[in-house]
Amino acid sequence: MVLNDATLVLNRNWVPVNLTTVLDALCKLYAGSARAIKPDDYSLHDFDSWASLKVIDGAPCVRTASIAIQAPEVIVLSRYGAVPDRGVAFSRLNLYKRDRYTCQYCGRSPSVTELTIDHVVPRSRGGISSWINCVVACVQCNFKKANRTPAEAGFVLKRTPAKPERSSQLVFARVQRKVSWEKFISDAYWNVELKE
Ligand SMILES: [Zn+2]
Repeated sequence: MVLNDATLVLNRNWVPVNLTTVLDALCKLYAGSARAIKPDDYSLHDFDSWASLKVIDGAPCVRTASIAIQAPEVIVLSRYGAVPDRGVAFSRLNLYKRDRYTCQYCGRSPSVTELTIDHVVPRSRGGISSWINCVVACVQCNFKKANRTPAEAGFVLKRTPAKPERSSQLVFARVQRKVSWEKFISDAYWNVELKE
């Protein structure tokens, strides 16, 4: 379904800030809050101008009774602040996503019901609930570690826990990159969340 396809969203400085759907991208064009970028010549188009472009043969497009509109693959926001650059909420789901549903001590990925949140420095010893002190641990490792630090329990963390920079990067990691996006995104940007 083309309308559910991914469109890359750039802020006014042409820095990638998010992904959205083709449907939302077209709505933003129609509302005037974004313009579409034609990847081959970087020309900017509002809704009418985009809709009047000839659809390239074989390119994904949205068809109505009267017109065919090419699916915008990259849009640039007209205003600052349209996509808030919020930090990632500290939640169980986001923590599980950050650690990829993998026990940070033994590296196993059991079912979600066997995963727990472990405080690296135990709460009873002043450890707080935060991105840098909480990791995903399987039930067994959590039980074995008990009220100790990883060093005391002879455990080594797979990764140093850190706050994810932006939720959009978590989304990016799972979406197929489009050729037209390459010009707007450096490899370093894409690799932030993917490297171990
Ligand atoms: Zn484990």
